[in-house]
Amino acid sequence: MTTQEKNRLFKALGLKPRLAGANCGGEWFASGADLIESRSPATGELLAKVAQADVKDYARIMQAATSAFVAWRAVPAPRRGEIVRQVGVALREKKEMLGRLVSLEMGKILTEGLGEVQEMIDICDYAVGQSRCLCGPTLQSERPMHRMMEQWQPLGPIGVISAFNFPVAVWAWNSALAWVCGDPVVWKPSSKAPLCAIACQNVVNEVFRANGLPEGISCVVIGRGATVGERMIADSRLPLISATGSTRMGKRIGAVVGARLGRTILELGGNNALIISDKADLTGALASAFFGAVGTAGQRCTSTRRLIIHEKIYATFIAKLVTNYKKVRVGDPLDPKTLMGPLIDEDAVKAYEAAIKAARQQGGKVLYGGKVIEPPLGRRTFVLPTVIEIDNGASIVQHETFAPILYVMKYRKLDDALRLHNDVPQGLSSAIFTDSVAEAETFLSWKGSDCGIANVNVGTSGAEIGGAFGGEKETGGGRESGSDSWKAYMRRQTNTVNWGGEIHLAQGVEFSA
Ligand code: NAD
Repeated sequence: MTTQEKNRLFKALGLKPRLAGANCGGEWFASGADLIESRSPATGELLAKVAQADVKDYARIMQAATSAFVAWRAVPAPRRGEIVRQVGVALREKKEMLGRLVSLEMGKILTEGLGEVQEMIDICDYAVGQSRCLCGPTLQSERPMHRMMEQWQPLGPIGVISAFNFPVAVWAWNSALAWVCGDPVVWKPSSKAPLCAIACQNVVNEVFRANGLPEGISCVVIGRGATVGERMIADSRLPLISATGSTRMGKRIGAVVGARLGRTILELGGNNALIISDKADLTGALASAFFGAVGTAGQRCTSTRRLIIHEKIYATFIAKLVTNYKKVRVGDPLDPKTLMGPLIDEDAVKAYEAAIKAARQQGGKVLYGGKVIEPPLGRRTFVLPTVIEIDNGASIVQHETFAPILYVMKYRKLDDALRLHNDVPQGLSSAIFTDSVAEAETFLSWKGSDCGIANVNVGTSGAEIGGAFGGEKETGGGRESGSDSWKAYMRRQTNTVNWGGEIHLAQGVEFSA
């Protein structure tokens, strides 16, 4: 991107070379002495410096969010939906610019950057409809002339902690729903992608201001996990913490929020496998495995990390896969010819190298890749996508390495494939490619995949916003986005109404003086 193009992008999104990291609707502020340098993962170019929020700024944000809750929850839900509709319209107008910024700051290729912004738009549309459907059932009472029902009330300010790899979509999944449910949002984005957060907040601020809404409904606090993050998770004014990131981070957050009996949505690491049957359409399987493993440079929570391939087709399939890998163009994520951009930073490259070394030591055979490549653009963040033949039991395979490393292995019987599939600590996304109804149904049955997402003839990577998104085991058990995920952002209340006048105790208990 030329300097001129960057300047145009920055102007359109309200970004400057020097920014402050805290906002609740008005001016940006930050009293922290520390500056985050946002650098392009591809070139190392300094994009902007962001002053981090400190404890005092956090207190100001929380003050705004708690008082905004009182006003926002009183706004009828469909009216809240109308505001979110306007946010969706504003995001549509800025889609191209925001997509470019995601690509520039995070390093995913432009089509994926644009796709991520589309997810924000989609969840806004979804939330608009949801705002008229925050409904509970009417239930039959055991007592005469009584009625029971369930209703859903706003919960309170929601703490959203997000990871670097989806720097805008995860926030939108949470915020669009939280807002229609009547909750303000306090967002702590990843310090690796602060500009994406500032740009999104600027879009929302314009919409909220135009509607005369008070400050505090949408808040951003950019600061260290160890200071601002720790304060958020211990803060009982945030009844729900929705956190996306590594399993290590999730264990810490789960423990701290659990100790105050708060709620969490934990969206943590995956170790996603694709089973390829000998009864599969191999063209579709190949395309899906390829995108799943190489897309986003293997930096999706749903990236395909393991291929479990039927022994009859193993050799042919691997040969075709490696042919595709050889054609992957690694380089500038903003160049339309690039298929794979950089890793987020040099630490991610070290993790890639360490995993390959460990895999070799544990009996793995590198079939393709395994190398850091000469930096095409200046920063040592470009690697070759890698295929390694290895046993599922090797300890490195049991672990999520956030890089384009694909472990491949063989199976003979479907039961063996399922055993290998489930034999990892994580449980996010999974898939089988097969044209056999029996195999597909087995995969989806109680003896099949143990993951939160299980697909048939669709790869592991990428999900539509309409489904509940999340995983089991060390992936954390949270669900966000579609289906009934909205319920996590509300307080459920059971009501019993006596319209007959006579007092009846439940279970027929008699109690009178
Ligand atoms: P990370 O765990 O390093 O950081 C995630 C976020 O947690 C950051 O905002 C960080 O500042 C914050 N954080 C860290 N420690 C904290 C603490 N003690 N208190 C409060 N906040 C704290 O993760 P990352 O490297 O940014 O992202 C990659 C990871 O995220 C991968 O493991 C990936 O699988 C996972 N991820 C999961 C999903 C999902 O939906 N399951 C989606 C995207 C990413």
